[in-house]
Amino acid sequence: MKIGVLAVQGAFIEHEKMLERLGAECIELRKKSDITENSLDALVLPGGESTVQGKLLRELDMFDSIKSLIEKGTPVLATCAGMILLASHIADDSTVHLGTLPVTVKRNAYGRQLGSFVSENDFKGLGKFEMTFIRAPYVEKTESDEVEVLAEVGQKIVAVRYKNQIALAFHPEVGEDSRIHEIFLKMIK
Ligand code: GLN
Repeated sequence: MKIGVLAVQGAFIEHEKMLERLGAECIELRKKSDITENSLDALVLPGGESTVQGKLLRELDMFDSIKSLIEKGTPVLATCAGMILLASHIADDSTVHLGTLPVTVKRNAYGRQLGSFVSENDFKGLGKFEMTFIRAPYVEKTESDEVEVLAEVGQKIVAVRYKNQIALAFHPEVGEDSRIHEIFLKMIK
């Protein structure tokens, strides 16, 4: 299993470590040929800064190839900034990046006081999961009946699945619990 991990900025190494522990091979994506010359089974869009990542995706000419892989059904796991890259709308902002996930996300949605926090919450199919939020977004609105809500914290949606895309507002790669990464790997046919 070859997983392409977007590695232009942000928390990609933690995803790689977790996926390698689960037996997957990770390819760091830094330029277009990393995508086009590897036959990737799945993609990871890590946390970081969505504005920077979105800009680099375009500057490094990776944007179209990533978008078309997702549209073709390649499984993608997106965390935090990655969720913002996928979203079809960003609240109070006209920017759209990949736009493949029909939701509106709100960036830096928890304000300064609660900029970063850890809390244990239910995740659909898994039970309790410890969730680390770092200047996180949440899903303000789902825009299709096919968007499945996987987790909510204080009535805010923090995890969704839509077809081949899983998007999380939190960082499952920072702890020891690899159950979400396991679900993701099972999505590979
Ligand atoms: N605040 C970041 C953004 O808006 C996301 C933070 C994260 O990925 N941990 O892109």
